[in-house]
Amino acid sequence: MIKAIYPGSFDPITFGHIDIIERSSKIFDEVIIGVLNNKEKTPLFSAVERVEIIKEAISHINNVEVAAFEGLLVDFAKAQNASIIVRGLRAITDFEYELQMSQTNHIISKDIDTVFFTTSLEYAYLSSSTVKEVAMFGGDISKFVPPFIIGKIYNKFKK
Ligand code: ADP
Repeated sequence: MIKAIYPGSFDPITFGHIDIIERSSKIFDEVIIGVLNNKEKTPLFSAVERVEIIKEAISHINNVEVAAFEGLLVDFAKAQNASIIVRGLRAITDFEYELQMSQTNHIISKDIDTVFFTTSLEYAYLSSSTVKEVAMFGGDISKFVPPFIIGKIYNKFKK
């Protein structure tokens, strides 16, 4: 039984994230989406909101769970009995940071390995920041996130 953690900010979850979740859920027995509650950042959605949104976005997949976490990722992985960290790679710019993080995590905890999924071509450009930048100016975000999230994002910018 191989359990994997897919950690991230998911502020908000996009079609790019959902693609990685669908693909990793076919390879691993169970995938836990770890929503990082970073107290030093001010996200658009609170961790509780992000968990709720992700649950709805991935309700069509059986072997995926969602939980928020704080602190070290390797500690969260151990607490969940997960041995694999899943991350997505888009452009070469992701590579340097991701490589450093996976090596650091492996040094801290030898039993944990990181597996990278390369982005599907149609989502290679897509990031949560892009979604927020377009939504802030009232642009069309229907190609970036599932329909039920669109109104929630615009509402945040109205406030
Ligand atoms: P973080 O703040 O940890 O980078 P994100 O929510 O931005 O959190 O991303 C979580 C993970 O999903 C990262 O590994 C990131 O590279 C990956 N990811 C984000 N967008 C895409 C995409 N469009 N295609 C593939 N992977 C992606």
